[in-house]
Amino acid sequence: MILKRFGAYFKYLKPVRVQFSIGLIAGLVYAASSGFGLPLVIKYLVPLVTQDDKPTGWLLAGILISIPAVFFLRAIGSFINSYYIAYTGMHVLEQLRISVFARIQELPIAFFHSNNIGDLMSRVQGDTAQLQTAIVKVVDSLIKEPATLISAGAYLVYLSTQENDVTFILIALASVPACVLPIKAIGTRIVKKASQAQKQAGQLNHVLNESLSATREIRSYNLETREVNRFSEACRDFLLKSLKVVKYDKMLTPLIELVTSLAIVLALYMAVQRNIDEGALASILAALYMCYQPVKKLGGVSNTVKKAEASLDRLEYILDAEDTVPEAINPTPLGNIAGNIRFDKVSFRYTQDDGTVLRNVSAEIKAGEAIALVGPSGAGKSTFANLVLRFYDVIEGHVLVDGIDVRNVTKADLRAHMALVSQESVLFSDTIANNIRVARPDATVEEVQTAARMAFAHDFIEALDQGYETQVGERGSLLSGGQRQRISIARAFLKNAPIIILDEATSALDSESEHNIQTALEELSKGRTVLIIAHRFSTIQHADRIFVFDDGEIVATGSHKELYPTNDLYQSLYDKQAKTVHETQDSSD
Ligand code: ATP
Repeated sequence: MILKRFGAYFKYLKPVRVQFSIGLIAGLVYAASSGFGLPLVIKYLVPLVTQDDKPTGWLLAGILISIPAVFFLRAIGSFINSYYIAYTGMHVLEQLRISVFARIQELPIAFFHSNNIGDLMSRVQGDTAQLQTAIVKVVDSLIKEPATLISAGAYLVYLSTQENDVTFILIALASVPACVLPIKAIGTRIVKKASQAQKQAGQLNHVLNESLSATREIRSYNLETREVNRFSEACRDFLLKSLKVVKYDKMLTPLIELVTSLAIVLALYMAVQRNIDEGALASILAALYMCYQPVKKLGGVSNTVKKAEASLDRLEYILDAEDTVPEAINPTPLGNIAGNIRFDKVSFRYTQDDGTVLRNVSAEIKAGEAIALVGPSGAGKSTFANLVLRFYDVIEGHVLVDGIDVRNVTKADLRAHMALVSQESVLFSDTIANNIRVARPDATVEEVQTAARMAFAHDFIEALDQGYETQVGERGSLLSGGQRQRISIARAFLKNAPIIILDEATSALDSESEHNIQTALEELSKGRTVLIIAHRFSTIQHADRIFVFDDGEIVATGSHKELYPTNDLYQSLYDKQAKTVHETQDSSD
């Protein structure tokens, strides 16, 4: 059963197979010395005390030395086995964690709409750790314990051939399988409870993550107590669910010990009846103990496996998640494209349950054109841009770049030809230079600086103490919004892609930043195809053409001059914008 459930992951053992094999061999040494060696030594040891005719000389020395010798083998076997098995387990875990992370990188954006970040983090961290414990325990015990059981069983069989009267021990041995009953009964409960506990761990992480990413909002709206209560509630639920796992986990050992004690009493009673000598009796008891001990440990392992199964389910949810934006099977290389974009009768909705967001949209954008996408909130402007980047796939129609359907190009190739300047420019916690360089990792210092100059970012960067080597803090929090955006524009310059997608910031910037950014963007637009999700009146004026979106359709296209007198929606949107600008200007005068 274990093989069936975990078999697919044995491939991770391949890179550490040498260490794994050493661990297994050491486990066999441990098992043989425990199951066979120890009872055998006891058989000769007890008569030393009880027998009148005591051995002397070499025989005595041999018997005495055999004790530390067996324990030495057992100790060495145990240490090497435990170390290399733990080594193997940790390597397996590392690979598994990386595989899950790599899968998360591949999954389409839609996956993140239906899964919260805290829960995903809990899966990558908590569930892989749960699996690591399981792998180490399972792999460790799977050889050591059954081998000890077999060795001890073999010893008992050997003894029964030596001493005719001890065949009854086989009866005691036959009671070993009885221990399986509590193991099975508890196992099914554990898997259910562990799954609930891990899910709750995800919820706990979700609350934590959400709270830590909204520190400003929490303080400004006095939500501290609400957040503490929310977290306490999640903690309490997690505690209750974890305790249920602990309850069943801890129930197993006492139950097995109970069954064991009954079997040992039976063996003792029969031994007394048959007048077995002390040495043989002691060694029978030792061997029986070596039979039950592994069963008890395997019971514990079974519980761990059940917990791991729950974690594995949660990891497989990521590993086996459907890629709703699959890679092209026979991709066409884009090469040096001019930058034409065409929407051919495109319809789109985010999920099966959602309404249609774009309806039969057709549009032609020539290479080098700057197109402003305008329309009321929720009209579908961002969605239109997202489809060009192939963040999602259309449900009907085609999105084409230079005549090639974006689904026939690899995602990496397609996106290599596009630069996205998003509304909230997210920077990585690294230096400014490295943040610009994400656009082209092999760019020289000069190229990075040229890009920064073109984005009007060079001067402010140079004014910082560490210049380009300044650390920007988590998500760029040590820089202002305008500075972050200029770094993001510098990235786009460095990428030098033929298609630029610009999600214009809605939040107002100070007029100098605003002016610099506008100039930088105009510069960036030269000779490139640009899609601007426009929120500003100033940007709209610079566009070659404007697409007016309304409720998932492009209801009009044309220049400002053409649209203003002819399209009511455009006129009202424009007037509203212009009014806001005038009001802002009046109040600042
Ligand atoms: P805004 O100017 O407010 O940014 P927009 O015109 O860019 O709006 P879109 O973001 O394209 O509008 O959204 C179009 C529609 O799709 C909206 O009704 C929105 O609620 C819906 N939508 C957007 N993103 C998702 C999503 N991830 N899942 C489901 N529906 C979504």
